[in-house]
Order: sequence, then structure tokens, then C-alpha cells
Amino acid sequence: MMREMSLGMRAGQGKMTMIICNDHGMQGALSVSPDLKKLINSQQTMKPYRIIEYEYLGDITHIFHVSIEYAKKYELPDEAILPLPDDYPEWVMSLVRVCEKCFEARLG
Ligand SMILES: [Zn+2]
Repeated sequence: MMREMSLGMRAGQGKMTMIICNDHGMQGALSVSPDLKKLINSQQTMKPYRIIEYEYLGDITHIFHVSIEYAKKYELPDEAILPLPDDYPEWVMSLVRVCEKCFEARLG
């Protein structure tokens, strides 16, 4: 079975997905909900977001940042760490990638 294990991984836990940012060049990519990406690009004040992680055999394999609205829309549970599923659900497939430096800048 093929899984894209690099999606949203922390650096150091394997190969991180890279992205080329107009401002920061080659950077690690974070998986976020599309509305969060819009907020980052629009320079608006960042809204609160939820971090949801996938865990497999005791390791965190994926880290996702989603807006509260997005979490509600897909009825994501409050628990932040979920077991890695066999197939990615729609809410994961709908995530988009952003430069981690841009994301951090918007949170600072
Ligand atoms: Zn950037």
C-alpha cells in the first residue's frame, strides 16, 4: 500500500515536503486548510486554528493546521491526535500547502 508519508511531516522525521516561496525560497511545507492559506496570503490577522495530527505506531506521521470553521465543517473530533487511517479522508485531501516561514510569520 502506498501512502504519502511526507505530507506535513516535521523535519527530522523523514523527508519533508518542500515548497518554493516567493518570499523565502525553498522551504518546508505545512498542510493547512484552504481558508488558513487565504488568510496568510491576505496578510489579515490570523484566526485561531486547530492542530490535528496523525499517529502511527507511536510516531506522529502528519501534522495539519486547520481553521476552527474547517474543523467544524468536517466534524473533526476535539482530540488532536488521530490514528493514521488506511485512506485519507476528504478533509485531508482538501488541505493545501503553505511555506512554513510564512505561516510562522503570520502567527508571530
Ligand atoms: Zn514564505
